[in-house]
Amino acid sequence: MNQNELQERILQYEKREKLLTLQIEELSDFTENGSIPLHKVDQNGIIIWANQAELDLTGYSHEEYVGFPVINFHADQSSIQDILKRLGKDEKIIDHRAALKCKNGVIKHVLINSSVYRKDGNFVHSRCFTVDISEYLKQAEEKSAKLAAIVESSDDAIVSKNLEGIITSWNHSAERTFGYSASEMIGESILKIIPEDRKDEEQLILDRLKGGERVEHFETKRITKYGSILDISLTISPVKDIDDKIIGLSKIARDITEKKHEERRKNDFIAMVSHELKTPLTSITSYIQLLLSKARKDKDDFEIYALSRSEVQARKMTSMIQDFLSLAKLEEGKISINKEIFDLYPIMEEISSDAKFLTTNHTIEFKGCKDIFIEADKNKIGQVLINLMSNAIKYSPNGGTIIIGCEREGSSIKIFVSDEGVGINPSDQRNLFTRFYRVRNEKVKNISGFGIGLYLIAEILKYHDSKIEVTSEEGVGSTFSFVLPVHV
Ligand code: ADP
Repeated sequence: MNQNELQERILQYEKREKLLTLQIEELSDFTENGSIPLHKVDQNGIIIWANQAELDLTGYSHEEYVGFPVINFHADQSSIQDILKRLGKDEKIIDHRAALKCKNGVIKHVLINSSVYRKDGNFVHSRCFTVDISEYLKQAEEKSAKLAAIVESSDDAIVSKNLEGIITSWNHSAERTFGYSASEMIGESILKIIPEDRKDEEQLILDRLKGGERVEHFETKRITKYGSILDISLTISPVKDIDDKIIGLSKIARDITEKKHEERRKNDFIAMVSHELKTPLTSITSYIQLLLSKARKDKDDFEIYALSRSEVQARKMTSMIQDFLSLAKLEEGKISINKEIFDLYPIMEEISSDAKFLTTNHTIEFKGCKDIFIEADKNKIGQVLINLMSNAIKYSPNGGTIIIGCEREGSSIKIFVSDEGVGINPSDQRNLFTRFYRVRNEKVKNISGFGIGLYLIAEILKYHDSKIEVTSEEGVGSTFSFVLPVHV
């Protein structure tokens, strides 16, 4: 190697050395002054180095910290000793929760991540990164304390349980409602408060939640410590882990026993009154019909007119009473469906011709329905059609054409009643089949009713695995329809 080449080599070495020194300086600046607390511990557990962030975290000076056993600075010394042992075996320590004793006496909650640095197989030191999670824990604790206070002071019983049905929390109100204390119930199965005939309810609820359904105001019964049965309304939410997997359920249970008693009393009253009204009304209707046939014989036009009007009103009243009786039965779960196979034509015909007595300013048309047999509860389907027809008349005060009819759809039959009345706007259409719902607008404000007709129709059809549908346009008219299978 000549002089020039030697010179060149030396220059390159010097350049590399400068670069290396720069990198070492940068690295040590990074570890010394970086914001993550970091220290090194020797094989005997003595702190041999700590950066500024670590000293800031603990509050000690370099002289008070470095050169001392690391366990001196921890509240749980045995856990740190265990870490040192594991490091000795070259284990990596990941996110280990520890409690750091600071100079001012404050305990800081930290996460420790540590591993060993070896050279030629020999232990040089273990390096340890410390993350202060005290503030985060404080906030989480405050949040959970607030939530716990809300849960504890709630008037509703709030209970959580895991997927095996084991209770994991039980608030004060649950104690009051079911008679068991939290210590008696936590760790026990929820089946303890579920009556024998409802034991399979839990699985059904879970299946609904797994299917993404919300379970709200689920009315059921529960049994108390003292054996009494309570009517309960449940709202159930899934408890999920970070992977969105359901790991338990939280339930809010409201005791609605009193409300249910009240409803039962009201229903009994409605049923009793309706029943009592039915008997005299049947007798009044028969006498009207008798007088009507006599008036027809005598050709007394005024009497015929007056008695026909009376008959129409008596029929309206009979159908209203029928609706009230059905409502009361439905609420009590006592409605029974007696299916039979019958010809649809005569019943549709009868309803369409009866409707002609109810109105003078509508044209009633009857379409289709010939040779159609269905298997259904004849009286209840009759009630559905009477209600649809009387609504069609009631809600088309300016007259127009009302069509009652059938349309064949393969092996099913679509039965419909259409009118040219006031129509219903889309937002009301969504609520029409709710109990006691009535549309409130200028056009219908003088039309009286109770808001139970469509609810009953929807319920009766539910029992027939069918559904009432509506298409309607305000100012144009409405069509109500439902589909039933044709009996072949
Ligand atoms: P009610 O007629 O006693 O109020 P219903 O349950 O039969 O109770 O009907 C609920 C509401 O639906 C009515 O208040 C009315 O506003 C609306 N409605 C029902 N049928 C019709 C119809 N054919 N045309 C327009 N609105 C209707």
